[in-house]
Amino acid sequence: MGNISIFNHTAYIVVTYLSLFLLFFASIYSSVGNKQSKGIWFLFWGLAIDFVSLYVSLHSSEVYARGGSVEIWVLAEMSLCLVSMLLLATASSHILESNLPDMPIISVFGILGLGSIIFFLYIFPNNEMIAQMRYIFPLAGFAYLSIGFWAQFNKKRSSGFIFAGIVTTMVTVTIGLKMLGIYYLIYQAWYIPSMTYILLSMALIMMKVDFFAKKYDESCAEVAKNSSRIEEIIKYSPFPIIISRLSDDRIILANSNAIKLFGIAPNELERYHFKDFFADSENRRVLNERLEKERVVQDFEMLVKTPTGNTPFWLLASANIIDYNYDVALYTAFQDITSRKNREVLLKNQATRDPLTSLYNRRYFEEEVFKRIVEAKATGEPFSILMIDADHFKKVNDTYGHKTGDKVLIELASTCERALRDVDIVARYGGEEFVVYLAGVNARKGKIVADRLRESISEIVVHSDEGDEVRFTVSIGVSSYEISDNIDTLIKTADEALYKAKENGRNRVEIFDKDDWEAFDNKETQERIKNEVNNRHPIFEKEENAEISLLDGIEANHIQSENTKIEEQKTEDRVDYPILGVDEDDLK
Ligand code: GH3
Ligand code: MG
Ligand code: MG
Repeated sequence: MGNISIFNHTAYIVVTYLSLFLLFFASIYSSVGNKQSKGIWFLFWGLAIDFVSLYVSLHSSEVYARGGSVEIWVLAEMSLCLVSMLLLATASSHILESNLPDMPIISVFGILGLGSIIFFLYIFPNNEMIAQMRYIFPLAGFAYLSIGFWAQFNKKRSSGFIFAGIVTTMVTVTIGLKMLGIYYLIYQAWYIPSMTYILLSMALIMMKVDFFAKKYDESCAEVAKNSSRIEEIIKYSPFPIIISRLSDDRIILANSNAIKLFGIAPNELERYHFKDFFADSENRRVLNERLEKERVVQDFEMLVKTPTGNTPFWLLASANIIDYNYDVALYTAFQDITSRKNREVLLKNQATRDPLTSLYNRRYFEEEVFKRIVEAKATGEPFSILMIDADHFKKVNDTYGHKTGDKVLIELASTCERALRDVDIVARYGGEEFVVYLAGVNARKGKIVADRLRESISEIVVHSDEGDEVRFTVSIGVSSYEISDNIDTLIKTADEALYKAKENGRNRVEIFDKDDWEAFDNKETQERIKNEVNNRHPIFEKEENAEISLLDGIEANHIQSENTKIEEQKTEDRVDYPILGVDEDDLK
């Protein structure tokens, strides 16, 4: 920088060194991760070599004062000045990102510079020109550098470059003034190099800040791009999709299909939480649990509701956790599977339920009771089987018509279901016959329950279409684990007891006890049972055929009993039958 006054005072030297070190550290800080890092290092080394040239200049002055030959020192000083200029120029071209082929240009400048040094030093020695070159080289270097910095000023986030441009322009002007001999402005300006280093350090730090800011801008742009891509995908998806924020569960985006599906107002999305759509909180808990573990959940069946409606419906959901607009969010796509689910329930009911009474059918009963007996045997728990048959049912049909007969069967079924506990199983065995599995109850207790049930049934009044009051009774046969653990034998023996009840006058309960084995073993009885087993359920074929029931499809009745079941579930552990007025004491 053509200034050797820094060597006049030790303090000046120290300050200049410190500021050069500061520039060094600022260069390290600024160049890390910065694509202009090469330019920064050319800048630093350009300035450092310029500083070294001042040392050499000082030394040559001393040698000159002693009357020695200084040519070699002047050559060294000039060469360093030239190298410094070339480095600053290279720095500038890197900062400019000019894509100019710097090596050829720099080489031409270098050769020209070196040529003129040798020319004025050895061929046509000219002290005046040499003295001028002390200024020309740094001036050219800084001028070049300032052009590089200023070229960046219209770019975004370029405050560091602008500041560096101001500093280098000021240095250029200062050197120019010195060269023109206008000393009064910068008289004894030892601090010029320190100031330059310090200000450029600041500029480099500002560049780094700009660099971070640029990165931030880029990531913002990336997020915005991603978010708008997600929005596009969602908008045109044929499936309902919603995005909810994970932190507060609020809905932040929903496509028109989802808005329609959940019946929500598009401008009120943020009012809703994702949880508002769950009809079953357990469902939601399971989904959350799986998301926590797996982050992606596919084909998740969920029972949902609209925030205003109460009728739940089934959806198949695929959910995953995504980054959306600076939020961690849940992306959920749905498929309406209500009709599929309904069909499933219907098919299941068709397979296990009797269409007229909605009680379980014989097949389900036998399968289920088989399992229960295995369990009961393992725990040593008693159980009983009741076989119930309506008395003189043909007469009901004949007198009041088949439709009234059906009504009677429906009432009979719902009375049984209401009266019995949830742990018991009641099924329509066929025609006007019903069968019951009583858990934890032996034959004697089973008879008490059966008697109360019989009484309850005898109190039922059904009205025929003509308005007649129809009353009816049942006979019940009881068998139990004390007789057998084979489901077929249990049913046959209960049926045998039922036969006994019919024989003994109907509207009564009989137990199949051990003494009955003899009669049961009697050939004649066996024959009768055989025939009965073969013929006794003429209605089965009809039962499978929905046309049998004139009141077909009365499933509301079933739903009612389901509700009753839920009520009863609360007292599931009860062993008594309060509806029948049978309590634990009775059963003791
Ligand atoms: P009891 O059992 O007391 O000996 O006499 P019953 O008149 O009940 O005799 P039985 O068991 O032989 O008759 C059963 C009748 O029940 C025959 C059939 O028409 C009628 N039935 C069977 N299934 C249905 C049904 O689903 N609806 C109606 N309305 N009647 C049915
Ligand atoms: Mg019968
Ligand atoms: Mg009958």
